[in-house]
Order: sequence, then C-alpha cells, then structure tokens
Amino acid sequence: MAKSAISTPMSSPGFEFVAARIGLPGRTTTVLIECPTSWCTVNHFEVREVAVEDITHYGPGTFLGIPTMSDDETDLLELYVNITSDPASDDPRMQAAHLIVSNSSGQDADLTNGQGEELADSLVRMAAEIRQALRVCQSANRPVLVDSDPSMDEALRRVRGEAV
Ligand SMILES: [Zn+2]
Repeated sequence: MAKSAISTPMSSPGFEFVAARIGLPGRTTTVLIECPTSWCTVNHFEVREVAVEDITHYGPGTFLGIPTMSDDETDLLELYVNITSDPASDDPRMQAAHLIVSNSSGQDADLTNGQGEELADSLVRMAAEIRQALRVCQSANRPVLVDSDPSMDEALRRVRGEAV
C-alpha cells in the first residue's frame, strides 16, 4: 500500500504558508514560513534572508514627498509609513502587525497603536497649521510677475516707452 503525501500543516488564522529562501548566496534552502498574506507584500522567496530569524513582514502604507522650489521633480524630504511585523522579535509588540515610520535617516520608528493614532492626529493638525502659515506668506508678499507671457512683456515695454 502506497504511503500518502506529507500532510500540509494548518496555518494560523490570518496566515498562509509561503516559500522563503534562506541562506548565503549559492548555498540557499527553501523553507515554509507563515506569512500574513492579507497585508504582507514581500515575496519571501525572491527576498533572500540569511536566517529565518531575519524574515520580517512588510506591507503597503503611505508616502509623503516634499519637493523644493528649485527642483519640483525630486523629493528633497521623504516620509514613509508602512505596516510591518518581526515574528522573531522578543517583543510581542514587534511580532504583531504595527506601523513603522521611516525616512532617509536610516532610523525607523515602530509605533504602538496609540502612537499611530497620535501621529495621524498630529498630521491633521499640521495640515491646518501649514495652510495658516501659507496664508501669512501670501498676504505678506507683494504681487510679483513670475510667469509673464509675451503679450504682457510687450505691454510692459509700451508702458515704459521702450521700442516694441
Ligand atoms: Zn510576509
């Protein structure tokens, strides 16, 4: 009588077993790990880690990019807020899905749920304060010709008595 195939273990609620590649380049192995696939967007097979303990789950979030007036095409400052969890952490709060805030500094801030709520409230307040400060700038500055079109340039030369 033939033996049946190895039974697939049951995953925890909210998790699915996915393949993960572990090891050093050229010396990798594939293991099954539990991944919270409802929010984790990491392909754990393509993103190789040296050890299983190095695997973190990471999901979508939001991004704030701030350009500067001398370069409207490139963000000078950046802020990212994403979902993450570190299942190998000793801290149960890090094992749980939580928000992580990062920028280009290399320092990441892992937030409790309360800190996440406070951050959202602070950003709403900051948006109102930015608009208030912008109104001060707009009322403090005299009108300046910035993007004059050729017909306006011609009108200005006529007013100034210059040859057209
Ligand atoms: Zn994952």
